[in-house]
Amino acid sequence: MATTSYLIALGSNRWGRHGPPERELRAALDAIGGIVHAAPVLRTPPLGPSRRRFANAAAIIATDESPPRLLARLKAIERDFGRRGARRWAQRVLDLDIILWSEGAWSGPGLTVPHPAFRERDFVLRPAVRIAPDWRDPLTGLSIRQLAERQCKPRRS
Ligand code: ATP
Ligand code: MG
Ligand code: MG
Repeated sequence: MATTSYLIALGSNRWGRHGPPERELRAALDAIGGIVHAAPVLRTPPLGPSRRRFANAAAIIATDESPPRLLARLKAIERDFGRRGARRWAQRVLDLDIILWSEGAWSGPGLTVPHPAFRERDFVLRPAVRIAPDWRDPLTGLSIRQLAERQCKPRRS
């Protein structure tokens, strides 16, 4: 039995060989394995002139892999799903980010856990709060529920 767990954020805004973004995310969960709990896929309507749909999800996985080992495996899965190039923010079939680790923080070359931007991201917090509301961010001491409440304030339309 694995003794450590991770919260992973999944994102896609391009069709791939499995189909539309939400199908890519479901296939990615199968590829990652060790899933303890997965949030329903969140579909974000396209903004502006783009017609691309975004899909986001989150999952808790159980594994004994170290953070760098897990990241290397996640990157291999991204490549296998057809992600090419290293441009940040580019359209991609699959993005797999490590958000939290049960053992706390990790910092090394090319890897920072908790993910430095997750506290400000609706598309990470909204799926995450469905599966891990009480998981605490080791840096701020706030739970995901608290971070989500802080972030997802109702907006004027
Ligand atoms: P963002 O990290 O802002 O969500 P992105 O996911 O689009 O951007 P990528 O191109 O997927 O960016 O990754 C850029 C680099 O970020 C990766 O090569 C990886 O080494 C590094 N990285 C640092 N911390 C993390 C983390 N917690 N999870 C995933 N990648 C990370
Ligand atoms: Mg990302
Ligand atoms: Mg990434």
